[in-house]
Amino acid sequence: MTRRGLLIVLSAPSGTGKTTVVGRLVERVPGLVRSRSYTSRAARPEEVDGVDYHFVAPARFRDMIDAGAFLEWADVFGRLYGTSAAETERSRAAGLDVVLVIDVQGAQQVRRRARDAVGIFVLPPSFRTLEDRLRGRGREAPGGSDLERRLRTARREVEMIDEYDYVVVNDEIDACVDRLRHIVLAERSRVAAMRHTIRSVVETFDALEPPVGRPGTV
Ligand code: 5GP
Repeated sequence: MTRRGLLIVLSAPSGTGKTTVVGRLVERVPGLVRSRSYTSRAARPEEVDGVDYHFVAPARFRDMIDAGAFLEWADVFGRLYGTSAAETERSRAAGLDVVLVIDVQGAQQVRRRARDAVGIFVLPPSFRTLEDRLRGRGREAPGGSDLERRLRTARREVEMIDEYDYVVVNDEIDACVDRLRHIVLAERSRVAAMRHTIRSVVETFDALEPPVGRPGTV
């Protein structure tokens, strides 16, 4: 029997650097995979279908909602994003830990449906850093309306931090990845996550002859 993988939910305001950080995290932690979301938005020039996202038409996304295909889904900046319930389950059943990089609305849904999910919120060092990073990205619409909206959303998102289990500040990428790595390793050592190992080790104790004064034995 294989150990069931952890479900880790990571959220961060747009511009925090979560894509880079999670990319390095999964490279550094064997057995940890990033879930590939479905989205109705168009691919950016550097993005590849089936690698960055599964890009689907809005009508197909709606059909998937109706079919109950999503563990969670949300409308983010007017585009639909969702996590496949079946793909997540397949990875976990194969013993892989899965990290979902999703917005705060999606994280709320996962918490309701999967009580054992581990929530991590990644913060930028300051609001100013976030603003500078978003400006530097140069992906925003002329006139700055998209930038303003992302910054307004960021203010609302940080108000949700208390619903997460861990907070990590992305002040320096490697340090941030290292802290995330330690969180994953610690979560793997929780008694609840170790049931499978505990059972197989404790069985070897029962095989001992004669019993060596375990509580309750005479
Ligand atoms: P982007 O379009 O810049 O790739 O992502 C925009 C936002 O959508 C980010 O905050 C990202 O975390 C969120 N997002 C990406 N995939 C999912 C998903 O499957 N579910 C939810 N709820 N949010 C997602």
